[in-house]
Amino acid sequence: SKLVGRGGAGFPAGLKMRLVAEKESDKKYIVCNADEGEPGTFKDRELLEKNPLKVIESIIIAAYLIGADTGYLYVRGEYDNLKENIMLLIDDCRDKGYLGLGIGDSDFNFDLLYRSGTGAYICGEETALIESIEGRAGDPRMKPPYTAEEGLWGKPTLINNVETLVNLIPIITLGAASYREYGTEESTGTKLFSVSGAVKKRGVYEVPFGITLRELIYDYCDGMKNDGEIKFVQVGGSSGAIIPASNLDIELSYEAFRENHVTLGSGAVIVADESICSLDYLKSTAAFFVHESCGKCTPCREGNRHVVRILDHLSHGIGKEEDIDTLLRTCQVMREASFCGLGQTATTSIVSMLDHFKEEIVTHIDHRCLTGVCDFEEGGGLHD
Ligand code: SF4
Repeated sequence: SKLVGRGGAGFPAGLKMRLVAEKESDKKYIVCNADEGEPGTFKDRELLEKNPLKVIESIIIAAYLIGADTGYLYVRGEYDNLKENIMLLIDDCRDKGYLGLGIGDSDFNFDLLYRSGTGAYICGEETALIESIEGRAGDPRMKPPYTAEEGLWGKPTLINNVETLVNLIPIITLGAASYREYGTEESTGTKLFSVSGAVKKRGVYEVPFGITLRELIYDYCDGMKNDGEIKFVQVGGSSGAIIPASNLDIELSYEAFRENHVTLGSGAVIVADESICSLDYLKSTAAFFVHESCGKCTPCREGNRHVVRILDHLSHGIGKEEDIDTLLRTCQVMREASFCGLGQTATTSIVSMLDHFKEEIVTHIDHRCLTGVCDFEEGGGLHD
């Protein structure tokens, strides 16, 4: 089917499953990663809320494929309102023989357990998630070994995003060849996009890969609120790149995004109109990463704070021209030296915003904010 993982990393799902399936072990686990913490992403919530049985069914199918006998559904703590219903459905599946010993009169045994996250963005990272299920703080582990070799309690573990697993059902019911008819050569099937921001109809849209960003915004979301102009779109959540209005015809596929040196990530699409100040926007994404950095490694822990300090000074009119170079150098160190994906991608929005809106950001040094959002009276140094 050429299914690609929908969680953000874009790893081939079949290869990941094969790695765990072929591993010799007395015990294997499957984890459905529903720790949907990327700002602007709410597609998995939709699946868990509107069709939780499909999620449970797809976990059982994947467990059968890899030979796991225990699974965990790890759900973002903020989605605790969904817990009661999902747990009732899991119990119901046990009563009806879809979970437990000898499923469907076969020799396949499998049980599924629900685990709540506790609000840390980093627990969406595979190894941090494993630490969390094992009862420790969600600190990422060194890789290798990869989770397919040594995951939960040292056993081979398949970790897949909710949307990835749910795709197993149409692949099996339609057949892989029919499934591949949707989407593009390298990005098969459909994708859920969580669209938020300045569009008329925000929400989750399921579209075939290959439509353009412009089509998603104007044909599916009915265009811009108050018929405003698009300034930029951030695709992939806070760790995603800034795409300017001049590139709205980019095709929504893994290969097209790769060619443009950006990533599709989890499919969050945050649309900003002309009222948004690019610098003010960056301040809020940077503050998010300061809050969510686990603090384990210096480049991410200190780098994020340094970035916030520089952005804050610029937005209060006490920045200097050379701060931009310092900012870019800090971003480079964070990207190259951070221990895990959080620190490595935290500055993607800054670098790409500077690629397209550097002039607007630099005007703040002269106490001018082109959108009138930044307040130069307030004074800076808030994060010293
Ligand atoms: Fe923790 Fe950030 Fe380092 Fe990842 S990059 S280990 S989140 S401090």
